[in-house]
Amino acid sequence: AALKQKTVTFPDQTHVRALGQGTWRMGEESEKHEAEIEALRVGLDSGMELIDTAEMYGEGASEELIRDAIAGRREEVFLVSKVYPHHAGGEALKQACSNTLERLGTDYLDLYLLHWRGDIPLKETVEGLEALKQEGKIRRWGVSNFDVSDMKELLALPGGDQCAVNQVLYHLGSRGIEYELLPLLREHGIPVMAYCPLAEGGSLRDQLLNHPTVEELAETHGVEPAQILLAWAIREGDVIAIPKAGQAHHVEANGRAALLNLTEEELAALDQAFPAPTKKEPLDIV
Ligand code: NDP
Repeated sequence: AALKQKTVTFPDQTHVRALGQGTWRMGEESEKHEAEIEALRVGLDSGMELIDTAEMYGEGASEELIRDAIAGRREEVFLVSKVYPHHAGGEALKQACSNTLERLGTDYLDLYLLHWRGDIPLKETVEGLEALKQEGKIRRWGVSNFDVSDMKELLALPGGDQCAVNQVLYHLGSRGIEYELLPLLREHGIPVMAYCPLAEGGSLRDQLLNHPTVEELAETHGVEPAQILLAWAIREGDVIAIPKAGQAHHVEANGRAALLNLTEEELAALDQAFPAPTKKEPLDIV
């Protein structure tokens, strides 16, 4: 029998797989084009239906890559893009959304996020996003890089409670959101999208992947250390992790992490190695 993939439920009761695909820095190098298309398609084949992009990524190059990867398969995909803060209101928002849709070769987004907070009043952004929803250009909207005070301000606005998600940095080596932000979002039934779930690359990622506790758990489960990190990030059922992988073998491994359950004991061992926060920490960002 097929093992059950973990899913996360949005406030409007739509379910998505708890593991999706990030695409930052994809679509930018022509020699990687074929491999990246292949990686995204392999991800869809393995049930990683959510694809995350932004108008910022390669100034549209990531969205164009996705258009090619999902050609003929739009219905299978849960498509997420993000608007620059300086485009997040009025005519600029309408234009940014329409440009994004055109680059993606589609007529709707499943989810549209404010990439981070800028100078345009949140009230104006919420009104603009709600208007896009009414017009059918987007199915739902959310925010990214919002800390506790931003979230509270948003939720107090008319329509602010329509926020479907907050996309923030979250991985085993950066657990700050667990202290106050994650509980606040839980209280409102708003899921988190965990970006950089593999700590992006570079030395921090290597430290996590080579950590003895992580390695030991990977060995116990017969998986790769990256899969332990991802299974950890989605352990509670209301976090969607969006690892980026430009190589098909990475995507396959990442998709399988949605089938992996860590025991209480194993989670405790990870807590020991990477303690949960004991006070409010400023939101970690890239
Ligand atoms: P990740 O933490 O996802 O790490 C990506 C790196 O991990 C790549 O080098 C990739 O290699 C490698 N990798 C992927 N899978 C494996 C594996 N199974 N084993 C070993 N290495 C692996 O970093 P990102 O910064 O890309 O974050 C993920 C996504 O989150 C972004 O792509 C973007 O969509 C989103 N994001 C959003 C932000 C925001 O402000 N809202 C900010 C930052 C990211 P390779 O590509 O070679 O396969």
